[in-house]
Amino acid sequence: MRQITWNDIERQCKRGDVPGTGRTVFGVPRGGTHIAQALNSFNSCLLVDDPEAAEFIVDDLIDSGRTRARWMDRFPRADFWAPYDKKEREFAGVWLEFPWERHTGELAAEDSAARLIQALGVDINAQGLQETPDRLVRALKEMTVGYKGDPKEILSKRFEASYDEMVVVRDIEFYSLCEHHLLPFHGKATVGYIANGQVVGLSKLGRLVDCYARRLQLQERMTMQIAQAIQKHLEPAGVGCVVRARHLCMAMRGAKCPAEMVTSSLIGLMREDGKAREEFMALAGGL
Ligand code: ZN
Repeated sequence: MRQITWNDIERQCKRGDVPGTGRTVFGVPRGGTHIAQALNSFNSCLLVDDPEAAEFIVDDLIDSGRTRARWMDRFPRADFWAPYDKKEREFAGVWLEFPWERHTGELAAEDSAARLIQALGVDINAQGLQETPDRLVRALKEMTVGYKGDPKEILSKRFEASYDEMVVVRDIEFYSLCEHHLLPFHGKATVGYIANGQVVGLSKLGRLVDCYARRLQLQERMTMQIAQAIQKHLEPAGVGCVVRARHLCMAMRGAKCPAEMVTSSLIGLMREDGKAREEFMALAGGL
């Protein structure tokens, strides 16, 4: 990440090819409005409220060029200018952070949550809604706290055991958010492994499922991640994970099909040994 300061912006605004004294500028919301004001104070450009009246439409950053193309389509008479262009080698692939993007954190998230609710046409000041943006942000944080979890740490406490049979924990309840809609999908995971000299406490498998569920997820990926984490950190002879879940994004919208989705991931003997696979799948309730 590269922090852009107001001094940097002033320097960029005083380059040769920049809207100068008396030129009319309109800033693309929201980053571009800061640049328009900077051009006004550093270069004596004139601010206009209507892009039709602008000689220059300005933004803070040209990233993919998509924003520029959209504005140029609608206002073809204006030129487009931004102090930073990702096509310049110096800025390619670098994440730029502007002064107005710093020290925002939670307040910015609340602000965005309020805007989102307003965009639905809902009065954010109505009784009962005033605290909602704050609550929404806190709830989402709680539901995505799994990013902070460490699977290696969760599975670190192992016990030596001469046991080399299957260990299965059935029906671990979980709640997750689909990464496409941020709507819940929830269900049960059955996790098992074929011990190879060491075992973990049963509660750890529950914690492992929770750690992967409390993220923005795809059910297929979550199923694989759980199995792979056990394989990596416990090194058993085989691992299996079967997940059944209902997706609210399917039940509440679109096709409104409340179907249950089942996914499985099998590794090692759990996959290769027909008997082990059968035994595990029977315990997991089948596909
Ligand atoms: Zn979804």
